[in-house]
Amino acid sequence: MSSPTPVPPAIVFSDWDGTITSLDSNDYLTDNLGFGAAKRAELNVEMIAGRLHFRDAFIQMLDSISTPFPDCIEILRKNILLDPGFKTFYAWCKSQNIPVIVVSSGMMPIIRALLVDYLGQEEADKITIYANDVMYREDGSWTIKFRDPESGFGHDKSKTIRAYTQQKEYPGGQKPKFFYCGDGVSDLSAARETDLLFAKKGKDLITYCVQEGVPFTVFEDFKDIHGYVQEVVEGKKTIDEIMEVSGNPENTTH
Ligand SMILES: [Mg+2]
Repeated sequence: MSSPTPVPPAIVFSDWDGTITSLDSNDYLTDNLGFGAAKRAELNVEMIAGRLHFRDAFIQMLDSISTPFPDCIEILRKNILLDPGFKTFYAWCKSQNIPVIVVSSGMMPIIRALLVDYLGQEEADKITIYANDVMYREDGSWTIKFRDPESGFGHDKSKTIRAYTQQKEYPGGQKPKFFYCGDGVSDLSAARETDLLFAKKGKDLITYCVQEGVPFTVFEDFKDIHGYVQEVVEGKKTIDEIMEVSGNPENTTH
């Protein structure tokens, strides 16, 4: 009767901006309050070509915003929506003892504020978040405080994921399956750390994975991810089968 195994069947790591949320909050701030979408697009091209670190592009975008940080949070609360499948997926994960861990290049106070709006304070408090922070200068202006300033990603997601997975001892080969969900350039640092990478349809992470030869599975929203993770957890499909179905870059163009 008693099988008190502490090992979850899976652990889902996820990017926040543009993955759990409908839009990237930092892009939204840059486009609407900072130097705008055209300049951001130029920096994106440089990043994808490998001529500019994500960290250095990101700080330029955020430093172009002079709106006070609390006002930015309020603007984002009005404009950034939750992915349509996330709430149901998160509830299912909870019922299966599957942790959902947020691994973000965004800033902690923004993520916390939105998560409370989406899930309520009690549920939001239960979710582990690894992210960058905000830092106020003496003149009251703000900028990003990177978690891993020495990394070209600002937050080295691979380091965070490795630290999380290696701190646990899994008895007798009962290792959970590790999943990662993302959409952007900063997610590439996490791409090789998990058993299966979900990359959002039409977004930069796919371009980057194709370029770097990193296998991935395409998703449109968390309803897709829910389906895949459930199939693996219930033993209906292997990770390799899921990768074969959706990992073909030919299927990702639109
Ligand atoms: Mg993102």
